[in-house]
Amino acid sequence: MSDDASKSKVELSEAQWREKLGADRYRVLRQAGTERAFTGAYWDTKTPGVYRCGGCGIELFSSQSKFDSGCGWPSFTIPIAEGRVLERADDSLGMRRIETVCANCEGHLGHVFPDGPKPTGLRYCINSLSLELEPTED
Ligand code: FE
Repeated sequence: MSDDASKSKVELSEAQWREKLGADRYRVLRQAGTERAFTGAYWDTKTPGVYRCGGCGIELFSSQSKFDSGCGWPSFTIPIAEGRVLERADDSLGMRRIETVCANCEGHLGHVFPDGPKPTGLRYCINSLSLELEPTED
């Protein structure tokens, strides 16, 4: 898969997405579902590497910006590059939150909250199912 975000965006039918992703990833990435806290593959992961989009494979986050938020989901202070993660207002559940989606495939990633550590003060709270860790080789 390419990590070149300038390439044409991924556009599949819902049936194609369901077949490509499987039920669990489909529910999160295409239906804005949320995995239960402390159950995902990466909430406690400290392995160095790059987190790619679980839907389309572009690079979204580096392990260097991952921090232990204690919230039960993988948390990052900043995306790996500008323009990779888009933000949308989300007024579901009776509150204003900022949803984060992959800029390449528009897959739902999670939300971003203004309670993170320095340098950004942001917490990108991301479902493990929306990510695929590519460990650094050494
Ligand atoms: Fe994507």
